[in-house]
This record gives sequence, C-alpha cells and structure tokens, in this order.
Amino acid sequence: MKCKNYTFAQNFSKMINEFSQYLQKNIFISFDLKAVLFDMDGVLYDSMKYHARSWYETMTEEGLDSTPEEFYMHEGRVGSSTIDIIMYRERGMHATEEQKKRIYKRKSELFSLYNEGDTIPYAYDMLKAVKSKGLDCILVTGSGQPTLLDKLDDNFPDIFTKNKMVTAFDVQYGKPHPEPYLKGLEKGGNLKPNQAIVIENAPMGVEAASVAGLFTIAINTGPLDEKVLWDAGANIVLPSMKALLDNWEDYYTILSNKKTGQ
Ligand code: CA
Repeated sequence: MKCKNYTFAQNFSKMINEFSQYLQKNIFISFDLKAVLFDMDGVLYDSMKYHARSWYETMTEEGLDSTPEEFYMHEGRVGSSTIDIIMYRERGMHATEEQKKRIYKRKSELFSLYNEGDTIPYAYDMLKAVKSKGLDCILVTGSGQPTLLDKLDDNFPDIFTKNKMVTAFDVQYGKPHPEPYLKGLEKGGNLKPNQAIVIENAPMGVEAASVAGLFTIAINTGPLDEKVLWDAGANIVLPSMKALLDNWEDYYTILSNKKTGQ
C-alpha cells in the first residue's frame, strides 16, 4: 500500500511538471480553465480508416499516386489543401478550384459509403466528464463532411452547440495553421490560451494547437508512432481515450489549482 501511494505521488508530481512547464514556456502564471477543445476525426469518431481508404481510392481514380497510410499524416488539413499537395507532388501544378471540388466531392461520397459511424470508445464518457466540471466542449475540426457533422448530436447528445463549433466552413487556412484553434478560442468567448486545453490525435492538429499556444493532449488512436505527436509539440501523449478519462480527475485537479507547480 505504501509503495502504491508512493508511485501515485510520483506520477502526480510528474503530471504537475508537464502542466507547469507549459505555463513557464508560455508565460502564464496559472490555468483558468473554461473549455476543452476537441478535434473530431480520430478523437470522437473512429473514422480515419475510412477517410484513408476513401482518399486513396479517389486519388487512384484520378490517376494520382498515393498510399492509404500517407493520409494519416495529412489528417486535420482541410480537404482542398490535401488535394493541392498531392496534385502538386504528382503533376507539378496546383489543383484548380474545379478539381478540388470534384475530388473532394468524390472522396466524401466514398467516405459516406464506407463509414460505419463508429465512435471512439469512451469519447462520450470523456465529453460528459468535461461537461460535469461546468466546462464548455468546443469542436475544432478541419472536416466539412456533412455525414459526420450531422451525427454529432445523435452520437453525443447535449454536448456541442453550433455556435461553438469550428469546421472547414469557418477557416481559411486549416491545420497545421493555428487559425482553427484560435477560432475555437474566439468562439469559446474570446478565451486566452491558458483558458482551454486541446484533445488531438494527429500531428497536423497537434502542431496547430501548439502554435496557437494551447496545452495539447494527444491521444494516439491511429497507426502512427507516438514520436510524431511529441515532435509536433504535444504536452502529453496518451495511448487512448480511456487513458485520458482515467487521468481526467487528476488533470482537472492540477488545472484548477491557481498555483500549479508552485
Ligand atoms: Ca483528427
């Protein structure tokens, strides 16, 4: 028992360290938590495998070489940027608006066909745990996929409101640009970066959140090595949503402490 308590104390102080390092680096005295910003694909929905397949098949139909795996590295970008990057790589020219529209439409059709709507295990429990602390849950996604956005309320009732949601329709640049997370802070009520934290799963998304100055927890729900999430700037990397839920009470205790790390 003594040994277990000691281990707990050790883990807890290690956790405090991660949060206080962020505060020092970003020149904040404390957290003043008001909201948690959630990415969608790979965080709330187990949808990346269907996105990767749809992207790959669409690109193949267009005569553009790609691999299903590479779309995990592009995850979080708005669709038109992903199309442009691959078009430029394969053909040496930028995609026209017409091409972007056609390719994204086809990719969306295939995604709707393949997507089985699986949610990430424990995602709803996590959202409810955040809400139970009186915090806002704000969606920040690069997706403009109507089938997923429409289902949010069915899968996660009473969590999100339309005016506190950032989608592909709200941003000009998309991840890894910090714009989506800065918009998320704005929609949350002009919050400062120390008034929110981010839950992400993809390198581009972690980079966007980190550059926006937010404390970022990455959950590694895909096939990538966790190193890419650390390298993108994650403050904490966890293997699953379950691990985040298990740690949430401890994180919240640390985040609520006005003198974190002191
Ligand atoms: Ca994602």
